[in-house]
Amino acid sequence: MEIDGSTTIVGVIGYPIAHSLSPRMHNAAIRALGINWRYLPFQVAPENLEKAIEGMRGLAIRGLNVTVPHKQAVMRFLDWVSPEASAIGAVNTILNEGKRLSGYNTDVEGILAALQFGARLEKLPEKVVVLGAGGAARGIVYALTTVTDVKYITILNRTIPKAERLAAKMEKMAKEKTKIEGKGLDGETVRDELRETGPGGCETTHGAGLVINATPVGMYPDVDCSPIEDSSAFHPRLVLYDTIYNPKETKLMRLARSQGAKSFNGLDMLVYQGAKSLEIWTGRKSPVEVMREAVMS
Ligand code: NAP
Repeated sequence: MEIDGSTTIVGVIGYPIAHSLSPRMHNAAIRALGINWRYLPFQVAPENLEKAIEGMRGLAIRGLNVTVPHKQAVMRFLDWVSPEASAIGAVNTILNEGKRLSGYNTDVEGILAALQFGARLEKLPEKVVVLGAGGAARGIVYALTTVTDVKYITILNRTIPKAERLAAKMEKMAKEKTKIEGKGLDGETVRDELRETGPGGCETTHGAGLVINATPVGMYPDVDCSPIEDSSAFHPRLVLYDTIYNPKETKLMRLARSQGAKSFNGLDMLVYQGAKSLEIWTGRKSPVEVMREAVMS
């Protein structure tokens, strides 16, 4: 469909933004839906964020995705923030309805659908380890505590107090249904959190069944880095979900696979969070398969 006087604009703001797969994914979905819309990337430096959001109102841009580094800072410029996004402390989707701006966080749907349909984990293990304590980790821990039956979560982060603060906040929110601890992201703690056997080779119940990487370590161009360097921490009954999708196989995924663990990249999370954003803007069901094909090719 040609751009004309009634074309609706949606897009993504971030800094940098050139690497984003979202325009390709959303424009494929827009074509499949047969609507007169376009999805554009907008590079917005942090000092221009407020102006960009006012511009969204002024230009009647229907919706924006929000990515690094604006997910938290953008909240103060909106008229309403969903309870979920507010609890997480980050917005990744803005809806503009007659100049009223509402903020949502669709990473919650993104990670849950990615684990269920992408990694085919119908039932999540009792214990999950999350690497990182930033925006993505907050959404992931919120999703695990509010929607699933996961009983134990350990948040491992380079800056330990951040992991401890997030753990305390989320445990309070989970009303003690989930036990959440925050610890350091170091080799010994990782091995201890993932191991299945205790001293003397005895079975223990405290080993995690799922590890989710929510740090950018290993992302292009730093593809030789990994948040866990010791492959012996992994075992065949572990599943690794890396939220990174560029490269498609991270060093962390390779290390996990070398020990027989199943591993998945973040493309499914990207697709499902994007599908939910588009649904918020259009009010229509998103063509998930078209979106997946667009980012896989
Ligand atoms: P963020 O808020 O900046 O948080 C980054 C986290 O990673 C922090 O916990 C930080 O630890 C840790 N970290 C950064 N560099 C590190 C290093 N060199 N060594 C150890 N830890 C390090 O970023 P975010 O928004 O959470 O995004 C994190 C990742 O999630 C990104 O790679 C992004 O691509 C991915 N993501 C993917 C999807 C998807 O749809 N697949 C969606 C959202 C995010 P400190 O606290 O110590 O700084």
